Amino acid sequence: MFFNDVLVYIIGLFGLCAVTELVFLKTLKLFGINSMMVVDITHWNPLWQIMIMFVIQDFCEFVAHYLLHRSDFLWAFHKIHHAQETLGAASTRRFHFVEMFIFKPIIYIPFAMIGYSAADYFLFQATVQNVWGFFTHTNIKVKWGFLNYIINTPETHSWHHAKNIPRRLGVNYASILNVWDLLFGFYYLPKNEVPVLGVPDQKEMPTTFLTQLTYPFKLVFSGKYKSKENNQSVPTKNKK
Ligand SMILES: [Zn+2]
Ligand SMILES: [Zn+2]
Repeated sequence: MFFNDVLVYIIGLFGLCAVTELVFLKTLKLFGINSMMVVDITHWNPLWQIMIMFVIQDFCEFVAHYLLHRSDFLWAFHKIHHAQETLGAASTRRFHFVEMFIFKPIIYIPFAMIGYSAADYFLFQATVQNVWGFFTHTNIKVKWGFLNYIINTPETHSWHHAKNIPRRLGVNYASILNVWDLLFGFYYLPKNEVPVLGVPDQKEMPTTFLTQLTYPFKLVFSGKYKSKENNQSVPTKNKK
C-alpha cells in the first residue's frame, strides 16, 4: 500500500495525468484547438456532476479491467493481483504499478472532455473507486442477495479471482456497478459454492515484494508472457 498508494499513486499518477493533459493540449493545438473540453458540466448541479463522473469512470474501469485479462502483455502485470490465494481488504492494493500507469491517465481524457482538471479527476479516482476496492476484497461471509445484481460485492468479486476460470473467459470485471457485467454477459455467481482463489500456475508465482515487481518484466522480456492457456471448463469446488 505504501509503494502503490503513496509513492506511485499520489506522486506518480497525479504527475502522469498532468502530463497526459499537457500532451493532449499540445497535440490539439496543432489542429487549432485550445481545450480538451467538449462540454462544460462543471456548473451543473453537483449531484448530476457526481453521477455523470461516476458512470463514466466506472464504465472505463470496467473496459480497462477487461483488457487487462484479454491481452497477454497486460495480463503479465495484472496476474500479480490475481496471484492471491486468500482475499482481505488490503488485497485490493496488491497489484503491479504498471497497470495503473497504462490506464488511469487514459481514463482522465473523458473527464477532461467534460471540463475537469487532472486534479479533479485524481481526487475522484482516489476516493470513490479506491474505497470500493477495499470493500469488494473484504473477507466477509455475507450473502448480498439482489444487491449482487447492482453493485460489485465481496461475493461477486471473489468469483473474479477464481483460480480455474480461464482468465480470457473471465467473469465479474466490474469495479462498482455489476450492471456492466450483466449487460455484456460476464456476470457469474453460482449458488452454494465458493471459489478456489489464485492463478492456475500459483506455485510459480513470486511471493516477495521485489520479485513480484520484477516478475512481469521477466515474462515480457523473455517472451514467456504469450499465453498457452486453453479453455478450461468453468471452475470451482468446495460445495457447501
Ligand atoms: Zn482481474
Ligand atoms: Zn481483485
